[in-house]
Amino acid sequence: MALRNRFVLGNWKLNGSLAANAALLARLADGISAADNRNCGVCVPYVYLAQAQNLLRGSAISWGSQDVSRYEAGAYTGDVSALMVAEFGSRLAIVGHSERRSVFGDSDAVVAQKFARVKKAGLIPVFCVGETLDERESGRTGQVVTRQLDAVIAANGIGSLQGAILAYEPVWAIGTGKTATPAEAETVHERLRQHVVQADADVGNSLPILYGGSVKASNAAELFSMPNIDGGLIGGASLVVDEFLGIWRAL
Ligand code: PEP
Repeated sequence: MALRNRFVLGNWKLNGSLAANAALLARLADGISAADNRNCGVCVPYVYLAQAQNLLRGSAISWGSQDVSRYEAGAYTGDVSALMVAEFGSRLAIVGHSERRSVFGDSDAVVAQKFARVKKAGLIPVFCVGETLDERESGRTGQVVTRQLDAVIAANGIGSLQGAILAYEPVWAIGTGKTATPAEAETVHERLRQHVVQADADVGNSLPILYGGSVKASNAAELFSMPNIDGGLIGGASLVVDEFLGIWRAL
């Protein structure tokens, strides 16, 4: 089987300033080189896409957004479309991040619409799924993440996952300092992969599945050594250049 692509992607969330970004991106561009199947990217606030494009052009680092509108164009004040994101040389767009689901009310159906917009714009969807602590403690992890995955498959077809990235992000581990153990994460990654493989073996076996939730330079290597963990989606640590570089080196 061909090697799956591996990724370390940063999610800056609602952080950054022109000055801070310039310093961070310059050091990342210096520290990250093109290397076989190990990829690096940053998902920045929309208003910094032009800056990322200017500073990362020609580097080994991809960039993109943390969300997109479910609509293509029209009277949707405040929204930003996937096509607009693509115009800034972006390759990536996150959809279904748990903060969009819980703070902004994105349902599975809305996430599926956003996924479709991202694909249509020629971007790589970084599609996030994950359970809350309550769902985990009541034994519903597998059911929740496969429901979230099935919403995208039902709306867009199994083939839409070809070329996409799936990210498993247990909500209880995001920004909390609590990381799933490598074994806990691997169990869910394997379940997600098998779910896709049952529908389409080629799509499932080539789908990169990233882990996200309090990944740091000190725990990345152990997580990334698991057979179904193909890298990480990194929040807080993506803003600390030495941490982020350390995580990428662990790929
Ligand atoms: C995230 O925002 O996707 C994330 C995983 O955050 P953190 O690494 O801070 O837990």
